[in-house]
Amino acid sequence: MPSDRFSFSRLQLFDQCLAKYRFIYLDGRPAGGESIESYLGGRLHEALEWLYRERRTGRNILFDDLLKQYRSLWKEAWHGFVHIVQTGWQTDDYYQLGQRCLAGFYRRYAPFDEPVEGTERIISFTLDQDEGHLITAILDRLDQHGPGWWSIHDYKSGRKMLTPAQAGKDLQMKVYYLALVKTLENTERVDVVWHFLRHSQEVVLENVVWSPQRITTMLSKRIDKIKEREAQPQTLRPRESLLCNWCYYWDVCSAKAGKTHPARLAE
Ligand code: SF4
Repeated sequence: MPSDRFSFSRLQLFDQCLAKYRFIYLDGRPAGGESIESYLGGRLHEALEWLYRERRTGRNILFDDLLKQYRSLWKEAWHGFVHIVQTGWQTDDYYQLGQRCLAGFYRRYAPFDEPVEGTERIISFTLDQDEGHLITAILDRLDQHGPGWWSIHDYKSGRKMLTPAQAGKDLQMKVYYLALVKTLENTERVDVVWHFLRHSQEVVLENVVWSPQRITTMLSKRIDKIKEREAQPQTLRPRESLLCNWCYYWDVCSAKAGKTHPARLAE
């Protein structure tokens, strides 16, 4: 039985490839590998989480401390199924890319005095009482600037940057925004901030005026559609795209039967 709990990643995957959605959310099948981009993103998120957690205890963090922590996170989490697709790129290139991301972040935000309320904050809520759809949002960081004034922060480790206009349409932040509005007493002002780590850039939308009702209706419709398709798993077919190169379900995907995955094992 598929879980009734929805996240942004689950909604997004449903739009990307129905077969992969089925492998993960209906069959509970583990992936045969992990892309190095995803591995890098995970370590950067952990390093930044550590940074603000330590900072909240009053500790001053030198750049060397942050690098040391990143190095240890990278080493400890390493497993034998990390893969590289990009020709000419080696494991160390990604490791160093992570260092550059942290250096840019450090330069921009040190001494990290932001009013951080929580990191990797998990918020679960019921979307609508009638349907009972459950949503889980994991916010990279939540700051509180004063009574009812919040900012939601999301760290992006990919190449792609959003313009403010594209950011304004971003479903992920709308889910997070709804999570705050639904679960906190006072959300008079909410700012949303995307941190594009590779570019040392941020995109900020201040005091967003998104309609919780419209977001709820839109999510509710999407989840209804997903549940309808989940009831007919045979219709959840592969949708090939460039993203297949970063997918580790080729062994069970009918579209990839007999084909060789372009990624190589990272060393
Ligand atoms: S390989 Fe491509 S088509 Fe097959 S499950 Fe993965 S993303 Fe979908």
